[in-house]
Amino acid sequence: MLKSIAVMTSGGDSPGMNAAARAVVRTALFVGARVWGINNGYHGLLEEDMFEMQSKNVGDIIQRGGTFLGTARCKRWQTPEGRMQGYKNLVDRGIQGLVVIGGDGSLRGAQLLSQETGIPIVGLPGTIDNDVWGSDYTIGCDTAANTIIDAINKLRDTASAHRRVIVLEVMGRNSGWLAMVSGISGGAEYILVPEEEYDLDEICTEMKIAYEAGKRYILVVVAEGAGSGKEIGKAISEKTGLDTRVSILGYVQRGGSPTVIDRVKASQLGEKAALAIISGLSDIVFGFNRGNVVSINLHDAVTNKKKLDPEYIHLAKVLA
Ligand code: ADP
Repeated sequence: MLKSIAVMTSGGDSPGMNAAARAVVRTALFVGARVWGINNGYHGLLEEDMFEMQSKNVGDIIQRGGTFLGTARCKRWQTPEGRMQGYKNLVDRGIQGLVVIGGDGSLRGAQLLSQETGIPIVGLPGTIDNDVWGSDYTIGCDTAANTIIDAINKLRDTASAHRRVIVLEVMGRNSGWLAMVSGISGGAEYILVPEEEYDLDEICTEMKIAYEAGKRYILVVVAEGAGSGKEIGKAISEKTGLDTRVSILGYVQRGGSPTVIDRVKASQLGEKAALAIISGLSDIVFGFNRGNVVSINLHDAVTNKKKLDPEYIHLAKVLA
């Protein structure tokens, strides 16, 4: 059994990271282990910016977006020398295992640390993109999807009033999950995602026919990885002559008080991560599969690419 562990958040922040870190800390304390918090991800680990935590250090954070530990991107972590220095900084403090909460990149960095030094590592998927292989869910994806829905509801009002085409660009450079679920639940006519090819000429022809038949407005949700909202809006306007407006949601999607789902799931994952690492397990990521917490091999999680559920792609077309 490990006596002392550490937790960090890394890469892009996501709502619910606080709930996950809180659960790691309180679970560790509950079973009698010592627990450290590392500020600002791998950067903080290299800067020796870490402190031993008590229960009160994670008070009053479950309702907050962002991450109280801070997060960062760190070039030095991409070198074996940097990772060895990070390992030494952990060992110097008697820290025997590390929980990393972050996206794809952060988990890859964690996997390399484990491979090169043998230190036990448990990962938790923290990203709004919901793109970590092996898990249906990543911490923050629900809050982000709800933020988008809120924007869609408002955009629908104004689009309907003016008979406009609205193009809404949402986050997702490599993953269309956010665009897909928010588009389906927001009733979008078109959802453009990086995983699926689309024909803009065909879409424009359909739009003109729909307007001629009396349609009041059309909503297009575009994942940033499927093309620039601005350019797609310009092309629609030129090809159809329809009054078209573009809205780019940007960083508001990262923030906000986490939803109930994100708080509960992040807490469940945090508890499992702390118990697993303290009991000596390593090289796993905890995620969800059909509502249940599951452990995923860390190497598999970072080397495989998650696919967008084809049932979503089908449903979006049926309901458009
Ligand atoms: P996210 O975790 O949200 O995907 P990034 O891809 O920016 O965010 O990764 C966060 C940090 O994880 C990087 O700044 C770097 O320190 C580390 N990291 C990312 N990819 C690798 C890699 N291939 N090897 C080692 N470290 C990595």
